[in-house]
Amino acid sequence: MKKVKYLIVGAGISGLTFANYIDDDYLIIEKESEVGGYCRTIKKGEYIWDYAGHFFHFNTEEFKKKFLEKMPKKDIIHNEKCTKIFYNGKFIDFPFQTNIHQLEKEEFIDCLYDLFNKEEKDSYDNFLDMLYGKFGKSIVEKFLKPYNEKLYAVDLKELDVDSMGRFFPYANKEEIINNMRNHTVNSYNNTFLYPKNGAGSFIEILYNNLKKENVLLNVSVQKIDINNKLVVLSNGETIKYEYLINTIPLNHFLSLLGGYDSVINKMSYNKVLVFNLGFDKASPLCKKEHWLYIPSKDINFYRCGFYNNILGEEKLSMYIEIGYNKHNAITEEEIEKQLKLTLKGLKDIGIIDDDVKLKEYVSIVMDPAYVHITKESNELLDKVKEDLKNKNVYTIGRYGAWIYNSMEDSMLKAKELALKIR
Ligand SMILES: Cc1cc2nc3c(=O)[nH]c(=O)nc-3n(C[C@H](O)[C@H](O)[C@H](O)COP(=O)(O)OP(=O)(O)OC[C@H]3O[C@@H](n4cnc5c(N)ncnc54)[C@H](O)[C@@H]3O)c2cc1C
Repeated sequence: MKKVKYLIVGAGISGLTFANYIDDDYLIIEKESEVGGYCRTIKKGEYIWDYAGHFFHFNTEEFKKKFLEKMPKKDIIHNEKCTKIFYNGKFIDFPFQTNIHQLEKEEFIDCLYDLFNKEEKDSYDNFLDMLYGKFGKSIVEKFLKPYNEKLYAVDLKELDVDSMGRFFPYANKEEIINNMRNHTVNSYNNTFLYPKNGAGSFIEILYNNLKKENVLLNVSVQKIDINNKLVVLSNGETIKYEYLINTIPLNHFLSLLGGYDSVINKMSYNKVLVFNLGFDKASPLCKKEHWLYIPSKDINFYRCGFYNNILGEEKLSMYIEIGYNKHNAITEEEIEKQLKLTLKGLKDIGIIDDDVKLKEYVSIVMDPAYVHITKESNELLDKVKEDLKNKNVYTIGRYGAWIYNSMEDSMLKAKELALKIR
């Protein structure tokens, strides 16, 4: 039987980063034919797409430096973010709550009035309760509620107050008013950089540092016996490990361990259907925007983005994101139906016109996409993670740890763990 010190499940950004910081006695098991997980890049015809928008908003220098040093400067694009909300037929700046002065006068007055008369509380019961308490009825009902319902595909009362953590653009009354004169309110990702050949270029840098024979592609983990530290693979092999590092979604991982059904049932999340679309000409409407937020429920997608505007190219190349509840199946018929609705939605907004041709497209199902953080599931999962740790099993990454974080956060955590246990 093959023995290995570190057995890593999944070759996404978390698994690859972990392997970059340990000695050579490791093996990565990856079920797909290539590494990268959700941070892969797809090339089709003349178009380059990621798995939905995947941007690095580096908060620390470490990984930024590591990547930039290994890439020609000309291959990196630095962008000052240009994002808009498509609201009632016009564009307003994101975030909605700090740009209400861009609304029509009556709507602006509603938002301002409700902002001043909102009933703040010392503590809130849930995410929706917090939104009403902090922003007032109009801001919530015009944007925050419909947009987040489309994205999370769940009743917002089921989400915890802090379910979006630092990714939620909070703003108080003073900041909102001041922002009307001086546009000073920034969100977490005011600038971003993007490799010309897609986010997967960064993955290549991580992968190139590893020994290829230590990465098994097209093989999945099928069963895990944590008491005897054994893993059974889809190719029939059994591997004995000393440390097991999991990066696959925690719900799937727990089902491989067995005995966790009641925990798995309590884990809530959404799925996202992504369309990457390559058209034969430029958009008549969106010439500079990087991505748009769409709160209207008349349009099927909650967000769309423009690779061509990020790359400074002419022909419209887009990603589209559509949120689903975890219980909803995304079948072939559903994908076909959503593609038609998407093209209609793009026309309704004015992003495409009647004589444009869709030259290439792909659809991707991200399952899970956004995990829903609740106090109850957090407490349950903290306990599960502690039990696993006592058996030398560590579960990391956005889906492995079941948290809401960025790719950079996942890399930092993966490195921290590797340094701690190596
Ligand atoms: C719509 C959307 C947009 C996003 N945009 C951004 C963004 O702009 N910026 C940002 O920082 N983050 C973004 N993220 C988050 C980002 O995708 C993740 O944080 C990151 O890619 C997670 O990497 P990971 O390695 O932890 O997991 P994954 O990428 O999920 O990797 C897990 C790997 O495990 C493999 N695997 C699964 N099951 C098995 C098995 N049984 N056996 C073997 N292998 C298996 C999978 O094939 C995969 O390669 C976004 C996420 C979504 C859903």
